[in-house]
Amino acid sequence: MTDSVIFVVSAESVRLPSFPGRTYPDHAMAMPRARFDAILRDAALAAGAEPVTGRVVDPIRSANGLQGFMRSDGRRLRADVVIGADGALSRVATAASLVDPSRVLWGFAVSAYVEELVRLPHIVMWEPEPWRIFPGYGWLFPGVDGYANVGLGLGLRADRSGAVAATDWFDAFIDHLRRLGVLSRRPSRRPALRGGWLKMGMIGTIAARRRTLLVGDAAGLVNPLQGEGISQAMRSGRAAAEAVLAGPDAAATRYSAFLAATYAPFESVTAAAQSAMLKRPRLVSVLGRVLTAPVLSHALRGGWSIYWNDLLEGAAPSSARNIASLVALAGPAATSRGRTRRWFTEAMSLRSSSLRHALGLPADDPTRESAASGVMMFTSPRAGVLEGMPGQDEARAVPGIAELEITIASGRAVQPLPEGDRYLGFLFARAGTPEEVEGALRAAHSQLEIVIAGVGSRR
Ligand SMILES: Cc1cc2nc3c(=O)[nH]c(=O)nc-3n(C[C@H](O)[C@H](O)[C@H](O)COP(=O)(O)OP(=O)(O)OC[C@H]3O[C@@H](n4cnc5c(N)ncnc54)[C@H](O)[C@@H]3O)c2cc1C
Repeated sequence: MTDSVIFVVSAESVRLPSFPGRTYPDHAMAMPRARFDAILRDAALAAGAEPVTGRVVDPIRSANGLQGFMRSDGRRLRADVVIGADGALSRVATAASLVDPSRVLWGFAVSAYVEELVRLPHIVMWEPEPWRIFPGYGWLFPGVDGYANVGLGLGLRADRSGAVAATDWFDAFIDHLRRLGVLSRRPSRRPALRGGWLKMGMIGTIAARRRTLLVGDAAGLVNPLQGEGISQAMRSGRAAAEAVLAGPDAAATRYSAFLAATYAPFESVTAAAQSAMLKRPRLVSVLGRVLTAPVLSHALRGGWSIYWNDLLEGAAPSSARNIASLVALAGPAATSRGRTRRWFTEAMSLRSSSLRHALGLPADDPTRESAASGVMMFTSPRAGVLEGMPGQDEARAVPGIAELEITIASGRAVQPLPEGDRYLGFLFARAGTPEEVEGALRAAHSQLEIVIAGVGSRR
């Protein structure tokens, strides 16, 4: 499948184009989820994974934190590192106290297969009552063997009690699809619905602490704008595995740095946007009409397609990419004062307990002030295009520096805080005392020359 068709509130539709990027093609493939999961499982087994069947139930703890689980069949499962890939309601996350449920952006979605030949993916934002937009969206996606996938999902913020609305409104949504003309007939009987939770926008979940890492939905990586999370689950799973292979002691730090660089810039802005939109259904109804107005939608649709699918990173140069870049630059400024962005700032700052956790320092450990490890996340000193960063070898050579990770490639646009929301990189240090760690981080940072569009900046 290629472009998607989006209906926002009215019967006006906008065709969102699918562009080939530098790192992705201009099309996607659809297949039943069970088949897709089986392919992933077979690939893992072929790569040497050992299959263990059973539900993990009770945590096994040691002085260093979570060490494994009792399985439902009564057996023990222990490991050097536990990676929770167990979905939105992750048992691993709960057992390791990594979730603050009062801050999570929850969603719930139901879907079914119906007999219908559908050529393009349809995304439908809809008003069951005039001027009160449904707090989510529905879809009709091409499938295989003459079947299409139809579904309805909604955002709930921190209150999971409203999830039943997805089921309650499903039949009315099918009628709406018929009225729009995208579904040719009503199914003779209600199709079997499958439902599931979505944990969106990272907020409320500390994704790594000591020897426990969370990936995919367990880490809350679902895109808050369009509700998809398969790609993030696969990519974060790989990053977690690579972080462990590079050494279990620093795996949580390494993996946290990956998430901070790869997903936090987009998710922190869009989580804040989703939260704001859910509180203002009337305003969103108005916005929906504005965005689907023919002239404006024609001008914006390319950038819309890139930004809301979080595809800016690999996008090829085009006017559509420029529009998406503008949104990506404006987003942090527009959301900088909200609670959501504050959570991200705290969760990812050097002083926060969250990063202490990521570094393996227990927050309630009275000796933590003498714990000798630290990280410095550094940003761009000014706006422009990053040309390069000489001095990396010198920075790595500073005694106490364990690692330097650069997370933005040369040639990318960068901005300083507070407008910018992306770190240029991370320095990690370990030493005998916190003072030595701080000294090492500062010394290493001063070795880096951040060159922005022809202007050198020694920091
Ligand atoms: C209706 C619906 C439609 C969606 N459509 C799309 C889409 O079109 N595109 C897209 O990208 N995303 C979609 N998503 C989101 C997507 O399904 C998730 O983001 C993705 O599956 C996350 O993968 P995961 O491996 O992190 O978690 P999951 O796919 O939830 O896998 C977690 C696994 O852990 C297992 N597990 C849970 N608890 C335990 C336990 N205690 N012991 C042992 N095992 C356990 C579960 O059985 C499950 O197999 C949709 C979600 C829903 C609900």
